[in-house]
Amino acid sequence: MQNKIQEMDEDINISDNVPNQANEGLEYLSKEVVENTTPRQITTDTSILKQKVEESEMTKDEMDKVTAELFVTLIKEGGLGLSANQIGVPHRACIVNVKEPLVLINPTIVKWGHVSTDTAGERIVYVESCLSIPKTIKKPKRTMRVSHITIKTDNLGIIEFGPDSTKWKQGGNELLKDEGLLESVVVQHEIGHLDGLLITDDLVRYNPQIEKTNTYGRNEKVMIKNVDDDTTMYIKYKHATKLMKTGNYELL
Ligand SMILES: [Zn+2]
Repeated sequence: MQNKIQEMDEDINISDNVPNQANEGLEYLSKEVVENTTPRQITTDTSILKQKVEESEMTKDEMDKVTAELFVTLIKEGGLGLSANQIGVPHRACIVNVKEPLVLINPTIVKWGHVSTDTAGERIVYVESCLSIPKTIKKPKRTMRVSHITIKTDNLGIIEFGPDSTKWKQGGNELLKDEGLLESVVVQHEIGHLDGLLITDDLVRYNPQIEKTNTYGRNEKVMIKNVDDDTTMYIKYKHATKLMKTGNYELL
């Protein structure tokens, strides 16, 4: 895996575009559910946003309700994705509206890369804004993301997201023009919300200082700890960085 960081020429705000396909997303739902749904307030309270939302069983009615609320709110506010905890709904669910409207129920990232082709994800520097952090809508933040991801969901099974072609490797505008890559970043943004991670957090935001002062070689072994169950692993730094990006591991 190459660990090359791509730089960009100009900033593009990924959350500030009005969704052009969001209405199609409502075809997932019954008319009655949509008509009885009002947009919800998007929270900006970081003490709420920083809490991880655990997986939970959802009934069909609960799924329809949260899906309708997410889409109706996204249409009103404009954006490419929204997570349930941003609108005060305590379920691990989100919507992503880049190529087509997608509802993800209990989504989790299972690989920073693609499982089917055994492709490793490459780190990229992107630019994002967040409806829950209004100042980033005017002034987007640089973030560190991974090009290819594989996620699992209750409703759609295993799904892979990643670039449409290899042009993005040229960096700059080519990177930002790749719709598949944009979708991959939005999925990471929304699942990040469900894990309590914001684009302003150290694990997500791009920090050139950290990149420069990194003293570990990519193949040097380091000890990391799972913050949930305190188990440790002694693995190569290049693998450790990917795990640490999930927010579930820290360097010892
Ligand atoms: Zn956000």
